[in-house]
Amino acid sequence: MEKSKKIALIAHDGKKVELVSFVLQHKAIFLKCKILATGTTGSHLEEAGVPVTRLLSGPIGGDAQIAAKVAEKEMDAVIFFRDPLDKHPHEPDVQMLMRLCDVHNVPLATNPATAKLIMTSITV
Ligand code: PGA
Repeated sequence: MEKSKKIALIAHDGKKVELVSFVLQHKAIFLKCKILATGTTGSHLEEAGVPVTRLLSGPIGGDAQIAAKVAEKEMDAVIFFRDPLDKHPHEPDVQMLMRLCDVHNVPLATNPATAKLIMTSITV
């Protein structure tokens, strides 16, 4: 069966545990979706038994790869657990990703509360 919805998952280092926990809480839905993830986030998800397509790590272009897929209308939603209390060398890429989600009207969650709302509305 073709997986219909495509969801991007990204978490800054301080939020990776929280993202894996969130995905496991909604595992039944996520397993029916095609998941793309940045490199290290993807490794954590795979270790937790969630199959993903891994892209580059965020700081070396993974966020930019997901931004490109958003621009090409390949993503149905982006869940990015950002850590607002830390600095990130790839902040320009993060801003680009968020901007392109707005340009192309793609649902973007940057915290668990919003991600939960997105997941409850996804019909696969
Ligand atoms: P990572 O990238 O999953 O490779 O750590 C996430 C990010 O910080 O953008």
